[in-house]
Amino acid sequence: MPSETIKITAKFKLKETPKGLDDLFSTYREIVNFLISYAFENNITSFKRLKKENYENLRGEYPELPSHYIYTACQMAVSIWKKHRKRKRKGKAKGKPVFKRDSIMLDDHLFKLDLEAGIIKLSTPNGRVALEFHPAKYHEKFKDWKVGQAWLVRNSKGLFINIVFSKDVEVEEPENFIGIDLNENNVTLALSSGEFIQIITHEREIRTGYFLKRRKIQKKLRAGKKKKELLEKYGERERNRLNDLYHKLANKIVELAGKYGGIALEDLTEIRDSIRYSAELNGRLHRWSFRKLQLIIEYKAKLAGVKVVFVNPAHTSSLCPVCGCRLSPNGHRVLKCSNCGFEADRDVVGSWNIRLKALKMWGVPVPPESQPMKMGGWKVSRNDIYELYKSYG
Ligand SMILES: [Zn+2]
Repeated sequence: MPSETIKITAKFKLKETPKGLDDLFSTYREIVNFLISYAFENNITSFKRLKKENYENLRGEYPELPSHYIYTACQMAVSIWKKHRKRKRKGKAKGKPVFKRDSIMLDDHLFKLDLEAGIIKLSTPNGRVALEFHPAKYHEKFKDWKVGQAWLVRNSKGLFINIVFSKDVEVEEPENFIGIDLNENNVTLALSSGEFIQIITHEREIRTGYFLKRRKIQKKLRAGKKKKELLEKYGERERNRLNDLYHKLANKIVELAGKYGGIALEDLTEIRDSIRYSAELNGRLHRWSFRKLQLIIEYKAKLAGVKVVFVNPAHTSSLCPVCGCRLSPNGHRVLKCSNCGFEADRDVVGSWNIRLKALKMWGVPVPPESQPMKMGGWKVSRNDIYELYKSYG
């Protein structure tokens, strides 16, 4: 069986603050910004070159700093500069970027994690210090995972070390795929040609509910600490609720996919900035949610040995899955093909097309009996779709 790597970033909230933390953050920022300037002036996008031309000099200037901080600062500077340059080329940024955050990249020389003892050992200018973290239930599952890069981050919620864990898993070669169409209020799954499941998520209701709560607070309370705290509290509750929903949804999807084959999702990473994308997503799932839900599905699937493929999202909601002609609206959420007479709910069309694209991409022949055109046109009505999770919300 072919293997794939899963990567997950886990947060470790530290119980204590190491001595000299403020200095460490500001020194690191200073170095990263110096390196960004250097990369900018010399147009360097190679980590190796940036390090080669600055390492000795920086070592001399910051002799007390463990040397690997300079390594990771070079990595950060290159990545910040590259991202900025990309945005600049699209006309979305100017000049050179400035790094302002309390954030330090750590490699395996700078920290050691001891999950059982609940401590992280961090190299600092004052030597190696052992820092206790608040144990979380989900930390346990990373026991046999590989520890990769990490970030030491400080924000309004405290001091964290975010660690990237990875694990190699065996993933089965699927003979079939289920196509998944993610929408704001439902997830539609094409299991096979003619077999669909729609899970009503009530996500819109959850969002609207919290939106109204926040608006009420906005109107009733005066600006101040209490207002800010309340707004933050509800913001966090909403995120937790949606997170919980996504995990349950992903579990259900992976369970179904295990019976039918692999999972096909739309690849929305490349066209994130295009206008067409936002127009097409209009009325669909919120951009952030979309990616988040996809990531949860992806890693849960891989953990279960289920293959996930991403297909090009172009025209998945506008072309007829039977004959490939353009569909036009025919009543509430229904699309119709004027060429072959196919008619279906637009979520059904989306998931169907996603599934077909995956089969094509994977080289799986689509059996002739699943070409509805040859059967004289199909009609999928809303009654064929049933609600799972009616109790959500
Ligand atoms: Zn058609």
